[in-house]
Amino acid sequence: MSAPTTFTDLGLSDALLDSVSKAGYSQPTPIQEKAIPYVQMGRDLLGCAQTGTGKTAGFTLPLIDMLADGRARARMPRSLILEPTRELAAQVGESFQKYGINHKLTMALLTGGTSLTDQERKLERGVDVLIATPGRLIDLIQRGKIILANVKILVIDEADRMLDMGFIPDIETIVGRLPPLRQTLFFSATMPPEIRRLADRFLSNPKEVAVSRPARTADTIEQAILRCGVETYRKREALRTLLNLDEPQSALVFCNRKRDVSTLQRSLERHGYDAKALHGDMSQPARTETLESFRDGKVRLMVCSDVAARGLDIPSVSHVYNYDVPSRPEDYVHRIGRTGRAGRQGKAFTLVTKADARSYANLLKLIEEELREVQLPEVETRAEDSAPPAVANTNSGPSSSHSRRRSGNSRHSGSTQIQPSNEPHNPTASFGDHTPAFLLRPLRVAQR
Ligand code: AMP
Repeated sequence: MSAPTTFTDLGLSDALLDSVSKAGYSQPTPIQEKAIPYVQMGRDLLGCAQTGTGKTAGFTLPLIDMLADGRARARMPRSLILEPTRELAAQVGESFQKYGINHKLTMALLTGGTSLTDQERKLERGVDVLIATPGRLIDLIQRGKIILANVKILVIDEADRMLDMGFIPDIETIVGRLPPLRQTLFFSATMPPEIRRLADRFLSNPKEVAVSRPARTADTIEQAILRCGVETYRKREALRTLLNLDEPQSALVFCNRKRDVSTLQRSLERHGYDAKALHGDMSQPARTETLESFRDGKVRLMVCSDVAARGLDIPSVSHVYNYDVPSRPEDYVHRIGRTGRAGRQGKAFTLVTKADARSYANLLKLIEEELREVQLPEVETRAEDSAPPAVANTNSGPSSSHSRRRSGNSRHSGSTQIQPSNEPHNPTASFGDHTPAFLLRPLRVAQR
């Protein structure tokens, strides 16, 4: 058997080898091993890989070495990376800073929702790497603040998401401003015919690399579903029961609709949970603040929409809760991929109602596996779901309201048990002195 490829084998400069080692990487990931040599050769690349595979370093590492010689001119970036969301753009920016510590490359982020003046000032000084979302970039192009004639390398990242978000016309406009003689790297998590057609338009004789299907993340993620009533309060109650069971320190709760993100977040807050909301309609400072407090562990639950959470790389996320079955099955893979990162274990629960039958069937078709079914004892229906809170938010460890615990006198009846806590039950203020019976009963998971 041949020895595994090392970063040294990939011919990276000593400066980069040093930063890669400081980043703690001992070996290239498969996408890095496959993509880096082609990028170094100057070839166009069509990469099928999702976030979590190490694809960002797959293009940023060679880019840094390739841009090491040369100088940027005012308002004329030397390379351009297009990302669908501000968060992803920021994440790629962080990667550049991490891998580029030994280089003197300049970088600017051009994303909506932040001060245009600061961004313009940076561009004015000249940047080697411009990381942008399409809308803001078009804005600056139209106002004559940026010239793309000097871009030698273009990266179109998350192309399938760009397509979903309606960015393709913008990308076409942007590409129309670039010199035809350039290197283009095109990444997409999925490669449906529509994406291939786009790739044909933007790439010239590309090399194609792919890493195994995103659904492989399931190796480190324990997945289960919980069937529940269609009524909102039943879903909310079911979610709270699941939250009480595992008491995750860091969890994402996904909703399909933006308005449900806010409603659910408020409901969780009313019930004493430490939760913040993140969705695309929020102002950028609010998005950044929420994300930071979640990343820093100051907030344990982040209720979010797909757009806002796409590609987030927060290794400490231990649980993902799908409050809704995503209507696009690929989103399920992206959502659950926020946990179980970097070899850690993660759990993903999905609430499934009768109304989700079709989405759920599509999801199973995509992941090609059955999901375990968690069976909660019959959930008591209460109209009090919208009752005002009796508890203030806390973030003070196990005694917080988020950490309500249940009695551990579980019965075993041939079904898999989700580990309930053995600690005695603490009555919680939000239920008054009354604890609904369902919270005291053991939880069983049926094995399919
Ligand atoms: P990405 O798919 O680019 O979002 O990367 C996912 C995560 O993998 C990030 O946290 C990276 O820091 C990490 N990563 C990238 N390359 C490597 C590597 N060669 N070894 C270990 N971790 C890596």
